[in-house]
Amino acid sequence: MTNTLTGSCLCGRITFRVTDEFETFHLCHCTQCQKATGSAHASNLFAQQTGFAWLTGEERLKRFDVPGRAISQAFCIDCGSGMPYLTLSGSGLMVIPAGTLDQAPSITVKRHIFYGERAAWYDDLAHIETYQDFPPS
Ligand SMILES: [Zn+2]
Ligand SMILES: [Zn+2]
Repeated sequence: MTNTLTGSCLCGRITFRVTDEFETFHLCHCTQCQKATGSAHASNLFAQQTGFAWLTGEERLKRFDVPGRAISQAFCIDCGSGMPYLTLSGSGLMVIPAGTLDQAPSITVKRHIFYGERAAWYDDLAHIETYQDFPPS
């Protein structure tokens, strides 16, 4: 029996379910993903559309397809959280931003891609101070 995971946005209005059978899971460091996420990389799972369904709030989604760009973005219009979207490739694959999931997927991260475009500040992060929550003030 295949497991089903749930996902949600920060405000909780949009929820979805997805079968825990992902095609791949990668971290994309390309400059487009840096712009789109405002961070070092996108963390994307790819799932067949047939195993995906919106549970609540589908009408709260706003999708952006940027002309001339290969990537799209979908957001909750109430809280701005990045949300899953169907790729434009015709492959029937959904892009699932990993942080939207409410449970850990069984797949592990498979690769870094476009690492040559990574943010200059990304290197050596393993050596910086790390805290389990807020740092001491
Ligand atoms: Zn939201
Ligand atoms: Zn990218």
